[in-house]
Amino acid sequence: MEEQEKQDKPGSEVQKNEQEGKGSSQYRGNQRRRFYNRNRRYYSPRYSQQNRDRIKFNKVSIVIPLLNEEESINLLANEIRKVLKQTDLSYEVIFIDDGSTDNSLKVVKEICRTDKRFKFLSLRKNYGKSAALQVGFLQTTGDAVITMDADLQDDPSEIPNLLKKLGEEFDLVSGWKKIRHDPFVKKYSSKFFNFVTRIISKVKIHDFNCGLKAYRKEVIQDIQVYGELHRYIPLLAHWKGYKVTEIVVKHHPRRYGKTKFGISRFFKGFLDLITVVFTTRYIRRPLHLFGFLGAIAFLAGIVVNGYLSYLWVTGGYLSNRPMLFLGILLIIVGVQFFSVGLLGEMFVHNTRSEREYIIKERG
Ligand code: UDP
Ligand code: MG
Repeated sequence: MEEQEKQDKPGSEVQKNEQEGKGSSQYRGNQRRRFYNRNRRYYSPRYSQQNRDRIKFNKVSIVIPLLNEEESINLLANEIRKVLKQTDLSYEVIFIDDGSTDNSLKVVKEICRTDKRFKFLSLRKNYGKSAALQVGFLQTTGDAVITMDADLQDDPSEIPNLLKKLGEEFDLVSGWKKIRHDPFVKKYSSKFFNFVTRIISKVKIHDFNCGLKAYRKEVIQDIQVYGELHRYIPLLAHWKGYKVTEIVVKHHPRRYGKTKFGISRFFKGFLDLITVVFTTRYIRRPLHLFGFLGAIAFLAGIVVNGYLSYLWVTGGYLSNRPMLFLGILLIIVGVQFFSVGLLGEMFVHNTRSEREYIIKERG
């Protein structure tokens, strides 16, 4: 029995592997983390049976991007403390100051000075929410990660619910602001946007861009959020093979300050959708997309010009047939699409890396 326990002690297997020089450094890193977590989860006396049943994670990292939210931060920090105290869960809160020009940084610094569970990073300028999230992700040490907005629109009381759902063998749980407290235009444009995204991506969730989400650590290690792709994190995760789901969360009207995203979000959002579809579905097989479009254009051009050729052979005149130009155009466009696809394939061929294939488990 004692022998068995010794075997199960955190790190023992990892150390053995390391001595034998087995695996890559990343492999060893993952093994250590998972082994440690697993043991902590089952052996630490700190976790009562009841809490273990409810939330299956050891430590949660809460990442909060913020831009000029000075009035909300203290209230949010207090709320988070209150909610997490009830769960007996160890946690860290990482504030990312995304180039605020008000007193946000000062407020954050004061919180971090008095409470060591709170950390902050301040970006030199405003890089955008995606960049702030990505920077925050790199700092996390928990085995579960929560993201939430700093403006008090997301409710910290949902954190335990998200974690519980995440524990049900999901990798990402997205919040769904079913009852949403935002201006009319924003509410309905967002509904349309979510509808289109759902149709195109076939990911069956209602609210892709909810600030409140929970992730397993592996997910945030594997996805890259840049530009304004934070709107599509569930898609990025889904197409990497992670299990994505949603739960309904509470949403509040903005109490202080104003929104950082205008109506332009709508148009940019659709361009970003094209980026996401391309980079997740076709990045490794560009000819499938461009070749398909090229083949359609080329064939349509051949049909049009074939028909005109037939008319010409049977005695017709082509001088007053604008369709001829359409046929020529389609053939040229078709060839161009094809060429772009082939060029893409050449890039892909030269930039393959093992990192793309995410391994779920090893034996
Ligand atoms: N935010 C940020 N950088 C930006 C824009 C926004 O860190 O460039 C933060 C902002 O402070 C808030 C969250 O992202 O905590 C969501 O922003 P906002 O509330 O303006 O978005 P909305 O709720 O209107 O969609
Ligand atoms: Mg907001």
